[in-house]
Amino acid sequence: MDFDLFVIGGGSAGVRCARIAAGHGARVGVAESRFWGGTCVNIGCVPKKFLVMAAEYGANAEDARGFGWDAAPGAHDWQALIAAKDKEIGRLNGIYRRLLENAGAKIFDARARLIDAHTLDVGGARVTAEKIVIATGGHPTGLEIPGAEHAIISDDAFYLPEMPKRVAIIGSGYIAVEFAGVFAGLGAETHLIYRQPLPLRGFDIDLREGLAEALAANGVVLHPDTVPTAIAQTETGKRLSLSDTTCVEVDLVFFATGRAANTKGLGLDEAGVKLGEKGEVLVGPDFATSVPNIYALGDVTDRLNLTPVATAEGHALADTLFGNKARGVSLATVPTAVFSIPPIATVGLTEEDAARERRVRVFVTRFTPMRHQLTGRVRKTLMKLVVDEATDKVLGAHMLGEDAPEIMQGLAVAMIAGATKADFDRTIGIHPTAAEEFVTLRTQTRVAGPGIGPV
Ligand code: NDP
Repeated sequence: MDFDLFVIGGGSAGVRCARIAAGHGARVGVAESRFWGGTCVNIGCVPKKFLVMAAEYGANAEDARGFGWDAAPGAHDWQALIAAKDKEIGRLNGIYRRLLENAGAKIFDARARLIDAHTLDVGGARVTAEKIVIATGGHPTGLEIPGAEHAIISDDAFYLPEMPKRVAIIGSGYIAVEFAGVFAGLGAETHLIYRQPLPLRGFDIDLREGLAEALAANGVVLHPDTVPTAIAQTETGKRLSLSDTTCVEVDLVFFATGRAANTKGLGLDEAGVKLGEKGEVLVGPDFATSVPNIYALGDVTDRLNLTPVATAEGHALADTLFGNKARGVSLATVPTAVFSIPPIATVGLTEEDAARERRVRVFVTRFTPMRHQLTGRVRKTLMKLVVDEATDKVLGAHMLGEDAPEIMQGLAVAMIAGATKADFDRTIGIHPTAAEEFVTLRTQTRVAGPGIGPV
Protein backbone atom coordinates (compact mmCIF):
# COMPACT_ATOMS: atom_id res chain seq x y z
CA MET A 1 0.00 0.00 0.00
CA ASP A 2 1.20 3.55 -0.78
CA PHE A 3 -0.32 4.97 2.40
CA ASP A 4 -1.50 3.79 5.81
CA LEU A 5 -4.23 6.44 5.63
CA PHE A 6 -5.66 8.43 2.75
CA VAL A 7 -7.99 11.32 3.60
CA ILE A 8 -10.37 12.72 0.99
CA GLY A 9 -11.11 16.34 1.90
CA GLY A 10 -8.93 19.04 3.48
CA GLY A 11 -11.57 20.65 5.71
CA SER A 12 -11.87 20.74 9.49
CA ALA A 13 -12.31 16.98 9.93
CA GLY A 14 -9.87 15.82 7.25
CA VAL A 15 -7.00 18.14 8.13
CA ARG A 16 -7.16 17.28 11.82
CA CYS A 17 -7.36 13.55 11.16
CA ALA A 18 -4.48 13.61 8.64
CA ARG A 19 -2.26 15.80 10.81
CA ILE A 20 -2.70 13.79 14.00
CA ALA A 21 -2.34 10.45 12.19
CA ALA A 22 0.91 11.65 10.57
CA GLY A 23 2.07 12.77 14.01
CA HIS A 24 1.48 9.23 15.26
CA GLY A 25 3.85 8.01 12.53
CA ALA A 26 1.33 6.90 9.89
CA ARG A 27 2.13 7.40 6.19
CA VAL A 28 -0.68 9.82 5.28
CA GLY A 29 -1.95 11.25 2.00
CA VAL A 30 -4.65 13.91 1.81
CA ALA A 31 -6.46 15.28 -1.24
CA GLU A 32 -8.34 18.58 -1.53
CA SER A 33 -9.60 19.90 -4.83
CA ARG A 34 -11.07 23.27 -3.82
CA PHE A 35 -9.56 25.03 -0.81
CA TRP A 36 -7.58 23.94 2.22
CA GLY A 37 -9.50 24.50 5.43
CA GLY A 38 -12.83 23.59 3.80
CA THR A 39 -16.15 25.32 4.34
CA CYS A 40 -15.41 26.74 7.79
CA VAL A 41 -12.27 28.62 6.82
CA ASN A 42 -13.26 29.69 3.32
CA ILE A 43 -17.03 30.04 2.97
CA GLY A 44 -18.37 29.45 6.45
CA CYS A 45 -17.66 30.22 10.10
CA VAL A 46 -14.54 32.35 9.69
CA PRO A 47 -15.49 34.78 6.88
CA LYS A 48 -19.07 34.84 8.24
CA LYS A 49 -17.81 36.10 11.56
CA PHE A 50 -15.83 38.86 9.83
CA LEU A 51 -18.99 39.94 8.01
CA VAL A 52 -20.96 39.93 11.28
CA MET A 53 -18.25 42.01 12.95
CA ALA A 54 -18.38 44.45 10.03
CA ALA A 55 -22.14 44.74 10.38
CA GLU A 56 -21.86 45.46 14.11
CA TYR A 57 -19.50 48.39 13.64
CA GLY A 58 -22.20 50.61 12.18
CA ALA A 59 -24.39 50.27 15.25
CA ASN A 60 -21.33 50.54 17.49
CA ALA A 61 -20.50 53.89 15.93
CA GLU A 62 -24.04 55.12 16.64
CA ASP A 63 -23.85 53.73 20.18
CA ALA A 64 -20.57 55.56 20.84
CA ARG A 65 -22.51 58.83 20.82
CA GLY A 66 -24.14 57.74 24.07
CA PHE A 67 -20.66 57.76 25.59
CA GLY A 68 -19.78 61.24 24.41
CA TRP A 69 -18.07 60.42 21.13
CA ASP A 70 -18.83 62.57 18.13
CA ALA A 71 -19.14 59.43 16.00
CA ALA A 72 -21.37 58.41 13.13
CA PRO A 73 -21.31 55.30 10.91
CA GLY A 74 -20.54 57.02 7.56
CA ALA A 75 -20.40 54.99 4.36
CA HIS A 76 -19.42 51.35 4.20
CA ASP A 77 -17.03 50.01 1.54
CA TRP A 78 -18.09 46.43 0.74
CA GLN A 79 -15.18 45.80 -1.63
CA ALA A 80 -12.70 46.85 1.08
CA LEU A 81 -14.32 44.44 3.53
CA ILE A 82 -14.24 41.54 1.07
CA ALA A 83 -10.59 42.27 0.15
CA ALA A 84 -9.56 42.34 3.83
CA LYS A 85 -11.49 39.13 4.48
CA ASP A 86 -9.93 37.42 1.44
CA LYS A 87 -6.43 38.40 2.56
CA GLU A 88 -6.96 36.82 5.97
CA ILE A 89 -8.57 33.71 4.48
CA GLY A 90 -5.58 33.36 2.14
CA ARG A 91 -3.29 33.47 5.16
CA LEU A 92 -5.33 30.77 6.91
CA ASN A 93 -5.31 28.56 3.77
CA GLY A 94 -1.52 28.66 3.85
CA ILE A 95 -1.48 27.74 7.54
CA TYR A 96 -3.70 24.70 6.97
CA ARG A 97 -1.49 23.51 4.12
CA ARG A 98 1.72 24.02 6.10
CA LEU A 99 0.28 22.24 9.15
CA LEU A 100 -0.15 19.14 7.02
CA GLU A 101 3.22 19.41 5.31
CA ASN A 102 5.03 19.97 8.61
CA ALA A 103 3.30 16.94 10.08
CA GLY A 104 4.72 14.88 7.20
CA ALA A 105 1.49 14.23 5.24
CA LYS A 106 1.65 14.13 1.44
CA ILE A 107 -0.62 16.75 -0.08
CA PHE A 108 -2.57 16.35 -3.31
CA ASP A 109 -4.27 19.43 -4.79
CA ALA A 110 -6.64 17.17 -6.66
CA ARG A 111 -9.99 15.40 -6.60
CA ALA A 112 -9.91 11.87 -5.27
CA ARG A 113 -12.33 9.09 -6.17
CA LEU A 114 -12.62 5.55 -4.85
CA ILE A 115 -12.04 2.73 -7.32
CA ASP A 116 -12.39 -0.01 -4.73
CA ALA A 117 -12.03 -0.30 -0.95
CA HIS A 118 -8.25 0.24 -1.07
CA THR A 119 -7.63 2.01 -4.38
CA LEU A 120 -8.19 5.63 -5.32
CA ASP A 121 -7.88 7.76 -8.38
CA VAL A 122 -6.24 10.99 -7.22
CA GLY A 123 -6.12 13.56 -10.02
CA GLY A 124 -5.56 10.78 -12.57
CA ALA A 125 -2.94 8.88 -10.54
CA ARG A 126 -3.64 5.52 -8.90
CA VAL A 127 -3.02 5.42 -5.15
CA THR A 128 -3.54 2.62 -2.65
CA ALA A 129 -4.21 2.94 1.06
CA GLU A 130 -4.81 0.64 4.03
CA LYS A 131 -7.46 2.93 5.49
CA ILE A 132 -9.47 5.68 3.83
CA VAL A 133 -11.33 8.61 5.38
CA ILE A 134 -14.13 10.45 3.61
CA ALA A 135 -14.28 14.01 4.91
CA THR A 136 -15.76 15.83 1.96
CA GLY A 137 -18.22 18.03 3.86
CA GLY A 138 -21.46 19.40 2.47
CA HIS A 139 -22.89 22.08 0.23
CA PRO A 140 -25.80 24.53 0.47
CA THR A 141 -29.03 23.53 -1.21
CA GLY A 142 -31.70 25.81 -2.66
CA LEU A 143 -35.39 25.31 -3.35
CA GLU A 144 -36.79 24.06 -6.63
CA ILE A 145 -39.14 26.91 -7.46
CA PRO A 146 -39.60 28.68 -10.79
CA GLY A 147 -36.78 31.20 -11.26
CA ALA A 148 -34.53 29.51 -8.66
CA GLU A 149 -31.56 30.23 -10.93
CA HIS A 150 -31.87 33.92 -9.98
CA ALA A 151 -31.06 33.16 -6.33
CA ILE A 152 -27.70 32.70 -4.63
CA ILE A 153 -26.51 30.34 -1.88
CA SER A 154 -24.16 31.08 1.01
CA ASP A 155 -21.05 30.11 -1.03
CA ASP A 156 -21.78 33.11 -3.30
CA ALA A 157 -22.57 35.53 -0.48
CA PHE A 158 -18.90 35.76 0.47
CA TYR A 159 -17.87 37.00 -2.99
CA LEU A 160 -20.68 39.39 -3.98
CA PRO A 161 -19.16 42.06 -6.22
CA GLU A 162 -21.25 44.70 -4.49
CA MET A 163 -23.42 45.06 -1.44
CA PRO A 164 -27.11 44.65 -2.40
CA LYS A 165 -29.52 47.38 -1.33
CA ARG A 166 -32.48 45.02 -0.90
CA VAL A 167 -32.19 41.35 0.12
CA ALA A 168 -34.63 38.49 0.67
CA ILE A 169 -33.28 35.56 2.66
CA ILE A 170 -35.22 32.29 2.57
CA GLY A 171 -35.07 30.10 5.68
CA SER A 172 -34.54 30.80 9.37
CA GLY A 173 -31.76 28.41 10.35
CA TYR A 174 -28.24 29.38 11.36
CA ILE A 175 -27.20 30.78 7.98
CA ALA A 176 -30.40 32.72 7.35
CA VAL A 177 -30.47 34.59 10.64
CA GLU A 178 -26.72 35.23 10.59
CA PHE A 179 -26.84 36.79 7.13
CA ALA A 180 -29.99 38.73 8.01
CA GLY A 181 -27.87 40.44 10.67
CA VAL A 182 -25.05 41.06 8.18
CA PHE A 183 -27.16 42.60 5.44
CA ALA A 184 -29.39 44.62 7.77
CA GLY A 185 -26.35 45.84 9.72
CA LEU A 186 -24.66 46.98 6.52
CA GLY A 187 -27.72 48.97 5.58
CA ALA A 188 -29.74 46.76 3.23
CA GLU A 189 -33.53 46.48 3.34
CA THR A 190 -33.65 42.86 4.53
CA HIS A 191 -36.53 40.41 4.37
CA LEU A 192 -36.48 37.08 6.19
CA ILE A 193 -38.93 34.57 4.74
CA TYR A 194 -39.55 31.41 6.74
CA ARG A 195 -42.15 28.71 7.02
CA GLN A 196 -42.28 28.48 10.83
CA PRO A 197 -44.05 30.92 13.14
CA LEU A 198 -40.67 31.70 14.73
CA PRO A 199 -37.09 31.51 13.44
CA LEU A 200 -34.52 28.85 14.46
CA ARG A 201 -36.66 25.74 14.78
CA GLY A 202 -35.14 23.38 17.34
CA PHE A 203 -33.82 26.14 19.62
CA ASP A 204 -35.39 27.06 22.95
CA ILE A 205 -38.73 28.86 22.59
CA ASP A 206 -37.68 31.91 24.64
CA LEU A 207 -34.61 32.37 22.43
CA ARG A 208 -36.70 32.07 19.31
CA GLU A 209 -39.20 34.70 20.51
CA GLY A 210 -36.39 36.96 21.66
CA LEU A 211 -34.58 36.59 18.34
CA ALA A 212 -37.69 37.48 16.33
CA GLU A 213 -37.99 40.68 18.39
CA ALA A 214 -34.28 41.46 18.01
CA LEU A 215 -34.36 40.94 14.25
CA ALA A 216 -37.35 43.25 13.95
CA ALA A 217 -35.63 45.83 16.18
CA ASN A 218 -32.66 45.71 13.76
CA GLY A 219 -35.02 46.56 10.91
CA VAL A 220 -35.32 43.08 9.39
CA VAL A 221 -38.76 42.60 7.83
CA LEU A 222 -40.06 39.24 9.08
CA HIS A 223 -42.31 37.03 6.94
CA PRO A 224 -43.23 34.09 9.23
CA ASP A 225 -45.39 31.17 8.07
CA THR A 226 -44.41 31.98 4.49
CA VAL A 227 -42.64 30.16 1.67
CA PRO A 228 -41.44 31.57 -1.62
CA THR A 229 -43.26 30.38 -4.72
CA ALA A 230 -41.36 31.97 -7.65
CA ILE A 231 -38.59 34.39 -8.55
CA ALA A 232 -38.73 36.57 -11.65
CA GLN A 233 -36.07 38.88 -13.02
CA THR A 234 -37.47 42.37 -13.67
CA GLU A 235 -35.87 45.53 -15.03
CA THR A 236 -35.35 46.87 -11.56
CA GLY A 237 -34.50 43.74 -9.61
CA LYS A 238 -35.88 40.35 -8.67
CA ARG A 239 -39.53 39.87 -7.85
CA LEU A 240 -40.07 37.20 -5.22
CA SER A 241 -43.59 35.84 -5.01
CA LEU A 242 -44.69 34.51 -1.62
CA SER A 243 -47.25 31.96 -0.49
CA ASP A 244 -49.35 34.69 1.16
CA THR A 245 -49.86 36.06 -2.40
CA THR A 246 -47.75 39.15 -1.75
CA CYS A 247 -44.39 39.80 -3.42
CA VAL A 248 -41.24 41.66 -2.56
CA GLU A 249 -38.83 43.25 -5.01
CA VAL A 250 -35.17 42.93 -4.08
CA ASP A 251 -31.68 42.94 -5.63
CA LEU A 252 -30.68 39.62 -4.12
CA VAL A 253 -32.56 36.43 -3.23
CA PHE A 254 -30.57 34.17 -0.94
CA PHE A 255 -31.47 30.51 -0.28
CA ALA A 256 -30.38 29.56 3.24
CA THR A 257 -32.48 26.43 3.21
CA GLY A 258 -30.08 23.80 4.48
CA ARG A 259 -27.07 21.80 3.37
CA ALA A 260 -26.50 18.33 1.91
CA ALA A 261 -23.56 15.91 2.07
CA ASN A 262 -20.92 15.92 -0.70
CA THR A 263 -21.09 12.31 -1.80
CA LYS A 264 -21.45 12.57 -5.59
CA GLY A 265 -18.64 11.44 -7.88
CA LEU A 266 -16.60 9.87 -5.08
CA GLY A 267 -16.99 6.27 -6.21
CA LEU A 268 -18.79 5.39 -2.97
CA ASP A 269 -21.08 2.98 -4.80
CA GLU A 270 -18.14 1.20 -6.43
CA ALA A 271 -16.49 0.74 -3.06
CA GLY A 272 -19.73 -0.41 -1.40
CA VAL A 273 -20.14 2.51 1.02
CA LYS A 274 -23.79 2.82 2.12
CA LEU A 275 -25.59 6.14 2.12
CA GLY A 276 -28.63 7.29 4.11
CA GLU A 277 -31.86 8.76 2.77
CA LYS A 278 -30.48 12.29 2.47
CA GLY A 279 -27.32 11.09 0.69
CA GLU A 280 -25.19 11.23 3.85
CA VAL A 281 -22.55 8.57 4.57
CA LEU A 282 -23.79 6.23 7.30
CA VAL A 283 -21.30 5.60 10.11
CA GLY A 284 -21.23 3.80 13.44
CA PRO A 285 -19.90 5.27 16.71
CA ASP A 286 -16.35 4.33 15.56
CA PHE A 287 -16.84 6.38 12.34
CA ALA A 288 -16.59 3.21 10.22
CA THR A 289 -18.83 3.06 7.17
CA SER A 290 -20.40 -0.13 5.83
CA VAL A 291 -16.91 -0.94 4.47
CA PRO A 292 -14.73 -1.65 7.52
CA ASN A 293 -11.52 0.08 6.33
CA ILE A 294 -13.36 3.18 5.09
CA TYR A 295 -14.37 5.86 7.60
CA ALA A 296 -16.33 9.09 7.34
CA LEU A 297 -16.15 12.24 9.46
CA GLY A 298 -17.80 15.64 9.79
CA ASP A 299 -20.57 17.14 7.65
CA VAL A 300 -20.55 14.33 5.07
CA THR A 301 -22.14 12.17 7.80
CA ASP A 302 -24.80 14.88 8.46
CA ARG A 303 -25.23 14.40 12.19
CA LEU A 304 -24.18 17.54 14.07
CA ASN A 305 -22.73 19.81 11.39
CA LEU A 306 -20.40 21.95 13.47
CA THR A 307 -16.68 22.56 12.93
CA PRO A 308 -15.55 21.68 16.47
CA VAL A 309 -17.46 18.40 16.21
CA ALA A 310 -15.68 17.61 12.93
CA THR A 311 -12.22 18.37 14.34
CA ALA A 312 -12.94 16.35 17.49
CA GLU A 313 -14.01 13.42 15.31
CA GLY A 314 -10.89 13.68 13.15
CA HIS A 315 -8.66 13.73 16.21
CA ALA A 316 -10.44 10.81 17.87
CA LEU A 317 -10.23 8.64 14.76
CA ALA A 318 -6.51 9.34 14.25
CA ASP A 319 -5.83 8.51 17.92
CA THR A 320 -7.91 5.34 17.63
CA LEU A 321 -6.32 4.05 14.43
CA PHE A 322 -2.70 5.10 14.90
CA GLY A 323 -2.23 6.42 18.45
CA ASN A 324 -3.15 3.32 20.41
CA LYS A 325 -5.86 5.35 22.17
CA ALA A 326 -9.31 4.16 21.08
CA ARG A 327 -11.98 6.76 21.72
CA GLY A 328 -15.15 8.22 20.27
CA VAL A 329 -16.77 11.64 20.52
CA SER A 330 -19.86 12.31 22.60
CA LEU A 331 -22.43 14.36 20.73
CA ALA A 332 -24.43 14.93 23.94
CA THR A 333 -24.21 18.42 25.47
CA VAL A 334 -22.47 20.06 22.51
CA PRO A 335 -22.59 23.85 22.92
CA THR A 336 -23.43 25.90 19.86
CA ALA A 337 -23.78 29.54 18.88
CA VAL A 338 -25.65 31.42 16.20
CA PHE A 339 -23.91 34.65 15.23
CA SER A 340 -27.06 36.63 14.77
CA ILE A 341 -27.03 40.25 15.99
CA PRO A 342 -27.12 39.96 18.94
CA PRO A 343 -25.88 36.36 19.05
CA ILE A 344 -27.43 33.26 20.54
CA ALA A 345 -25.60 30.53 22.42
CA THR A 346 -26.92 27.40 23.96
CA VAL A 347 -25.88 24.16 25.60
CA GLY A 348 -27.98 21.19 26.66
CA LEU A 349 -31.71 20.70 26.43
CA THR A 350 -34.40 23.17 25.44
CA GLU A 351 -37.21 23.63 27.96
CA GLU A 352 -39.55 21.76 25.62
CA ASP A 353 -37.27 18.72 25.24
CA ALA A 354 -36.36 18.60 28.93
CA ALA A 355 -39.98 18.92 30.11
CA ARG A 356 -41.18 16.11 27.88
CA GLU A 357 -39.73 13.48 30.22
CA ARG A 358 -39.41 15.13 33.63
CA ARG A 359 -40.42 18.07 35.76
CA VAL A 360 -38.07 20.99 35.35
CA ARG A 361 -37.62 24.30 37.13
CA VAL A 362 -37.19 27.15 34.68
CA PHE A 363 -35.34 30.39 35.39
CA VAL A 364 -35.54 33.22 32.86
CA THR A 365 -34.22 36.75 33.05
CA ARG A 366 -34.45 39.54 30.50
CA PHE A 367 -32.69 42.84 30.94
CA THR A 368 -31.18 45.78 29.10
CA PRO A 369 -27.40 45.31 29.02
CA MET A 370 -25.44 47.99 30.90
CA ARG A 371 -24.02 49.47 27.69
CA HIS A 372 -27.45 50.24 26.32
CA GLN A 373 -28.54 52.12 29.41
CA LEU A 374 -26.35 54.89 27.95
CA THR A 375 -26.75 54.23 24.23
CA GLY A 376 -30.53 54.12 24.40
CA ARG A 377 -30.57 51.26 21.89
CA VAL A 378 -33.54 48.96 22.43
CA ARG A 379 -31.74 45.67 22.88
CA LYS A 380 -32.44 43.03 25.50
CA THR A 381 -30.35 40.20 26.81
CA LEU A 382 -32.13 36.97 27.69
CA MET A 383 -30.72 34.22 29.90
CA LYS A 384 -32.33 30.98 30.86
CA LEU A 385 -31.56 27.86 32.88
CA VAL A 386 -33.56 24.64 32.73
CA VAL A 387 -33.05 22.58 35.89
CA ASP A 388 -34.07 19.00 36.67
CA GLU A 389 -36.44 19.29 39.66
CA ALA A 390 -35.49 15.84 41.00
CA THR A 391 -31.68 16.02 40.76
CA ASP A 392 -31.07 19.81 40.66
CA LYS A 393 -28.82 19.23 37.61
CA VAL A 394 -28.74 22.06 35.08
CA LEU A 395 -30.00 20.47 31.87
CA GLY A 396 -29.97 23.48 29.60
CA ALA A 397 -28.43 26.96 29.49
CA HIS A 398 -29.55 29.44 26.87
CA MET A 399 -28.66 33.02 26.08
CA LEU A 400 -29.54 35.66 23.53
CA GLY A 401 -27.43 38.75 23.88
CA GLU A 402 -24.06 40.37 23.39
CA ASP A 403 -21.14 38.03 24.19
CA ALA A 404 -23.44 34.99 24.49
CA PRO A 405 -21.01 32.63 22.65
CA GLU A 406 -18.08 33.75 24.83
CA ILE A 407 -20.11 33.19 28.00
CA MET A 408 -21.60 29.85 26.98
CA GLN A 409 -18.27 28.10 26.45
CA GLY A 410 -17.53 28.21 30.19
CA LEU A 411 -21.04 27.14 31.13
CA ALA A 412 -20.64 24.13 28.83
CA VAL A 413 -17.68 22.96 30.92
CA ALA A 414 -19.82 23.24 34.06
CA MET A 415 -22.63 21.27 32.46
CA ILE A 416 -20.34 18.55 31.11
CA ALA A 417 -19.04 18.24 34.69
CA GLY A 418 -22.65 17.76 35.86
CA ALA A 419 -23.17 21.10 37.63
CA THR A 420 -26.32 21.55 39.70
CA LYS A 421 -28.29 24.74 40.19
CA ALA A 422 -26.82 24.82 43.72
CA ASP A 423 -23.32 24.85 42.14
CA PHE A 424 -24.34 27.82 40.00
CA ASP A 425 -25.79 29.55 43.09
CA ARG A 426 -22.62 29.15 45.18
CA THR A 427 -20.43 30.52 42.40
CA ILE A 428 -19.50 34.15 43.03
CA GLY A 429 -20.30 36.48 40.14
CA ILE A 430 -17.89 38.71 38.26
CA HIS A 431 -19.21 42.23 38.58
CA PRO A 432 -20.34 44.14 36.58
CA THR A 433 -20.91 41.68 33.75
CA ALA A 434 -23.87 40.13 32.01
CA ALA A 435 -22.42 36.68 32.71
CA GLU A 436 -22.93 37.07 36.46
CA GLU A 437 -26.68 36.88 35.92
CA PHE A 438 -26.24 33.14 35.28
CA VAL A 439 -25.07 32.69 38.89
CA THR A 440 -27.63 35.04 40.44
CA LEU A 441 -30.80 33.57 38.98
CA ARG A 442 -32.74 33.18 42.23
CA THR A 443 -36.38 33.63 41.21
CA GLN A 444 -37.97 30.63 39.57
CA THR A 445 -40.02 31.67 36.54
CA ARG A 446 -42.09 28.49 36.20
CA VAL A 447 -42.20 24.73 36.51
CA ALA A 448 -42.68 22.65 33.37
CA GLY A 449 -43.12 18.95 32.80
CA PRO A 450 -45.33 16.20 31.46
CA GLY A 451 -48.95 17.18 31.88
CA ILE A 452 -48.17 20.68 33.19
CA GLY A 453 -49.58 22.41 30.15
CA PRO A 454 -47.94 23.75 27.07
CA VAL A 455 -44.34 24.81 27.47
P1 NDP B 1 -30.57 24.77 8.75
O1 NDP B 1 -30.89 23.36 8.60
O2 NDP B 1 -30.07 25.29 10.06
O3 NDP B 1 -31.82 25.68 8.34
C1 NDP B 1 -32.49 25.47 7.13
C2 NDP B 1 -33.63 26.44 7.03
O4 NDP B 1 -34.26 26.30 5.76
C3 NDP B 1 -34.71 26.19 8.08
O5 NDP B 1 -35.25 27.40 8.49
C4 NDP B 1 -35.73 25.35 7.29
O6 NDP B 1 -37.03 25.48 7.78
C5 NDP B 1 -35.63 26.01 5.93
N1 NDP B 1 -36.09 25.13 4.86
C6 NDP B 1 -35.60 23.92 4.52
N2 NDP B 1 -36.30 23.40 3.49
C7 NDP B 1 -37.25 24.29 3.19
C8 NDP B 1 -38.30 24.32 2.23
N3 NDP B 1 -38.49 23.32 1.37
N4 NDP B 1 -39.11 25.40 2.19
C9 NDP B 1 -38.93 26.42 3.05
N5 NDP B 1 -37.96 26.46 3.98
C10 NDP B 1 -37.13 25.40 4.05
O7 NDP B 1 -29.57 25.06 7.57
P2 NDP B 1 -28.52 26.21 7.28
O8 NDP B 1 -28.42 26.21 5.82
O9 NDP B 1 -28.85 27.49 7.98
O10 NDP B 1 -27.20 25.64 7.94
C11 NDP B 1 -26.80 24.30 7.77
C12 NDP B 1 -26.08 23.80 8.96
O11 NDP B 1 -24.77 24.34 9.01
C13 NDP B 1 -26.69 24.19 10.31
O12 NDP B 1 -27.75 23.37 10.69
C14 NDP B 1 -25.50 24.05 11.22
O13 NDP B 1 -25.34 22.69 11.55
C15 NDP B 1 -24.35 24.50 10.34
N6 NDP B 1 -24.03 25.92 10.59
C16 NDP B 1 -23.54 26.28 11.82
C17 NDP B 1 -23.24 27.59 12.10
C18 NDP B 1 -22.73 27.96 13.45
O14 NDP B 1 -22.27 27.09 14.18
N7 NDP B 1 -22.83 29.23 13.87
C19 NDP B 1 -23.40 28.65 11.10
C20 NDP B 1 -23.94 28.17 9.85
C21 NDP B 1 -24.23 26.85 9.62
P3 NDP B 1 -37.58 24.49 8.93
O15 NDP B 1 -36.98 24.94 10.20
O16 NDP B 1 -39.04 24.68 8.84
O17 NDP B 1 -37.15 23.10 8.53
